[in-house]
Amino acid sequence: MYNITLIKGDGIGPEISDSVVKIIEATNLKINWDVQSAGADVAEIEGVPLPQRVIDSIKKNKVALKAPVTTPIGKGFRSVNVQLRRELDLYANLRPCKNIAGIKTPFDNVDLVVVRENTEDLYAGIEEKISDDEAHGIKLITRKSSTRIVEWAFEYALKNNRKKVTAVTKANICKLTDGLFLECAREVAKKYEGKIEYNEVLVDALCMQLVQNPSKFDVLVLPNLYGDIVSDLTAGLIGGLGVAQGANIGLDCAVFEPVHGSAPDIKGQNLANPTALLLCAVEMLKHLGEVEVANRIEKALYSVLSEGKIKTRDLGGTSTTDEFTDAIIAKL
Ligand code: ATP
Repeated sequence: MYNITLIKGDGIGPEISDSVVKIIEATNLKINWDVQSAGADVAEIEGVPLPQRVIDSIKKNKVALKAPVTTPIGKGFRSVNVQLRRELDLYANLRPCKNIAGIKTPFDNVDLVVVRENTEDLYAGIEEKISDDEAHGIKLITRKSSTRIVEWAFEYALKNNRKKVTAVTKANICKLTDGLFLECAREVAKKYEGKIEYNEVLVDALCMQLVQNPSKFDVLVLPNLYGDIVSDLTAGLIGGLGVAQGANIGLDCAVFEPVHGSAPDIKGQNLANPTALLLCAVEMLKHLGEVEVANRIEKALYSVLSEGKIKTRDLGGTSTTDEFTDAIIAKL
């Protein structure tokens, strides 16, 4: 019996969470879901969007599955997602991106991994309003965080039989901040010489090359903001946000969370694609050592997707979240 924190989030979060829980339950794996709420509704009742109980639950269980929580745009509370990553020091954000059979995209050879620094950069939330006409934000980059994320990327490459790590910055313009990130990357890369290839690319050039020839890339390591933007782009390369998985990993805890947001435009309509969260759960089960169950779920999911008869609207189909969920369960 595993104790796992489950944050169902808001928007489409509860629908896709219920789908994933139902699929895992159908495998008979025993999980005690420690359900924790967070976000705007919680802030109204408990005063803060991310109460200490949520953090304590993850610290106790070490593992969480998290659906998206809406972040108010331009005003309101700080992102629960960002806060959680900082509170638990989940410094590595892993976003693998590989073509899935049955999902048509312009490329059929995408197999890359985005490793995003998760705690600093413009996401540190150090902003100040100077006047009605001026606001400043601090782009925080430290040697410690840059070195550990690049090391993490190289270690990931070694363990997962990857060949190359590419450091992505805009160090020609942000000479001190991205320059420091790059300096750390070069330092770390020296230790892996002969084992893992290393190269560098500017983020704007990367974006162009990704949409022209994504197979050029293997493991990408980026500061926080570029990592966020580039991983939405790479999600687009394999069929969109509905199928893009992710994980936030620290020394003690891991929170498995899809790339996409709460998709308020399709909330409560039974239209959401649970694939991204399900793939997060698959990775979570592998992380727990439940490889056989994880493989069973993955096989069932890929079988439904490759047959292509039952698919959600984001993938060009007409099936509901429930129909898609039931089709996966029938394949288990
Ligand atoms: P955030 O800034 O919170 O990460 P975002 O800007 O990435 O959010 P999303 O909430 O992810 O935005 O939604 C972007 C678009 O993708 C919306 O049109 C949404 O409906 C669609 N989308 C996102 N996730 C899914 C999903 N799981 N299934 C179907 N459509 C989705």
